[in-house]
Amino acid sequence: MSSPDPETKMQFLYSLRSKGVTEARVLNAMEEVDRGPFIRGLFAQRAYEDMPLPIACGQTISQPSVVGLMTQALQVSPRDTVLEVGTGSGYQAAILSKLARRVYTIDRHARLVREARQLFDSLQLSNITSLVGDGSHGLPDQAPFDRILVTAAAEDPPGPLLAQLKIGGIMVVPVGQSDTVQTLIRVLKTENGLEYDELRPVRFVPLLEGLGKET
Ligand code: SAM
Repeated sequence: MSSPDPETKMQFLYSLRSKGVTEARVLNAMEEVDRGPFIRGLFAQRAYEDMPLPIACGQTISQPSVVGLMTQALQVSPRDTVLEVGTGSGYQAAILSKLARRVYTIDRHARLVREARQLFDSLQLSNITSLVGDGSHGLPDQAPFDRILVTAAAEDPPGPLLAQLKIGGIMVVPVGQSDTVQTLIRVLKTENGLEYDELRPVRFVPLLEGLGKET
């Protein structure tokens, strides 16, 4: 697991800033967590380009600038417990682990969770708990959460996830049909109800029901 050379790393961070990732805590976390180890095979050499890349089980690791913008929108504090739905490669969870007290991450593909868990162990990211399951139901046993990040597109923000958000909590979720451009939404839960903000167009794989087939 070699780190990128300093020039590559500098360009990576420059590209994040130029696309609106400007918060120091988020940039520091993204500087600390190398993206390379989260991508296996041929595509690993493109790890520091600002593009989504294929991972196992027909899924993708998100574009780094989108990871940065979603993390920024989530406004994570060091006391927060965060739920991520859609572990994928584990890259987003690793970044959240640098910003939050505890991160729960869940994916419907057992293989992805197994491989991400190995990386979390080797990177000594001990505040991440990774689980296999259908994350659209959330994690009732661990709820409520200060922050929830969904990294697959839902037709609407899932009701069980909204219910598992604390008052004052924030959820960031891509919303829309899977085969079109979707909108990234930020939901703030207040004592008086839910406040919705539309952030930007995005394109994510769909949030699917049930468990994925083992590949
Ligand atoms: N956050 C990931 C990363 O850092 O690599 C990228 C996530 S990828 C764009 C979307 C992930 O959501 C896929 O790994 C997919 O298996 C997962 N997913 C889709 N529907 C799901 C569901 N209902 N519950 C849990 N995971 C789901």
